[in-house]
Amino acid sequence: MTWKREILKALLYSLLTVVVVLLLIRGLGYKLGFRPADVHRTSPIGQVDFGIDGAAPRLLQDFAADSRPRNIIFMLADGMGPSHILAARAELVGLNRRLQMERMPIAGWLTTHARTSLGTDSAAGATALATGRKVRPGRLSLTKNGVVLRSLAEEAIARGMSVGLITDSYLEDASLGAFVSHVESRREYAEVTRQMAASGAELLIGTLRGNFVEDSEAGQAHLATFTDAGYSLVRDWETLEQRQTPGKLVVLFPKDHISDRQRTPNLASLMDLAIERLSRNPGGFFLVLETEETDTASHRHDFQRMVRGMESFDEAAGQALDFARDDRQTLVLATADHETGGLMLLNASPGGKLDVTWGVDGHVALPVPLLAYGPGAEVLGGGQDNTEVAQRLAALMGFDLQRTGEIR
Ligand SMILES: [Zn+2]
Repeated sequence: MTWKREILKALLYSLLTVVVVLLLIRGLGYKLGFRPADVHRTSPIGQVDFGIDGAAPRLLQDFAADSRPRNIIFMLADGMGPSHILAARAELVGLNRRLQMERMPIAGWLTTHARTSLGTDSAAGATALATGRKVRPGRLSLTKNGVVLRSLAEEAIARGMSVGLITDSYLEDASLGAFVSHVESRREYAEVTRQMAASGAELLIGTLRGNFVEDSEAGQAHLATFTDAGYSLVRDWETLEQRQTPGKLVVLFPKDHISDRQRTPNLASLMDLAIERLSRNPGGFFLVLETEETDTASHRHDFQRMVRGMESFDEAAGQALDFARDDRQTLVLATADHETGGLMLLNASPGGKLDVTWGVDGHVALPVPLLAYGPGAEVLGGGQDNTEVAQRLAALMGFDLQRTGEIR
């Protein structure tokens, strides 16, 4: 019966070869940033409401043509494309209503390509938004010849404004890092932390990568970077709320604490607190608030988590806009570094659920939305490149982004 065994063996080998080839194709697909066609219907959260009553009113862009803001609130949702906004609207408030961020009357879209590739990452994306210059993916606000690219936040600090950086993820990650550090690789976390601590930013809120627990030696060294630079360390909401003394603060919460909007603080309460503290400076403030949830959840095709991330971000946008509406000297903008997941909304009917598809596991070169409100916000409308946002904000504020500098 050996011939039967031979046939069985041959069949087994061909099956194995097919499996290996399929795995290789799939692996290559991941490496190139796409994966083989896969219509992936996620579990939607709720029933889509088509009602039209109760849309949040849009803010009126009624500022003098030549007005210049005193404060800027720069909101960044990592990985947020146009579909993320529509999905959040459909799931959270109803298809014909409006998210808080959609109260902003000025709208535009940004091309996001990096210096050397159409695809980009948070390092090149945030560098473009922070400095008005393109770098290759992975690099933070530094040219390939080692020239330091000046950021909006650094110019704000140089002009006596108060700067705050907030994230629901790691402080030393690329998105905030691009505003205050200059490194060849976004993975130089210790160096990003060092430059961030030396930046002069008044308020830093987020978590730190790895162990920042005080009882470990590495954790002690990490925290000392901030305390040596004159920062007071705060690790709970009560202390933070009660703290009225001036001076630089670094506020650290456990991982995944801030992104949970049911907990205190969440992005909305931190937006309130930051505005309250930073607006004491008569010279104005520059605040960057980032959510990483939209990117993380979209990489994982976790639709529900993505919508929760958008909800948390949108709530913070609502707080910022209420302040800006009353204050009338604050420009608020919300945008993204790139789209993540290639999210597409296929269909839904009244009372039904959303059909959605994720196209890729990585980032796609889809233009990202930009929304803005406040004095001078008109300059951000329409289609533009991501580098033009920083250039236009700099022109509006009288900042000089061409100024070169040394690494602190
Ligand atoms: Zn990403």
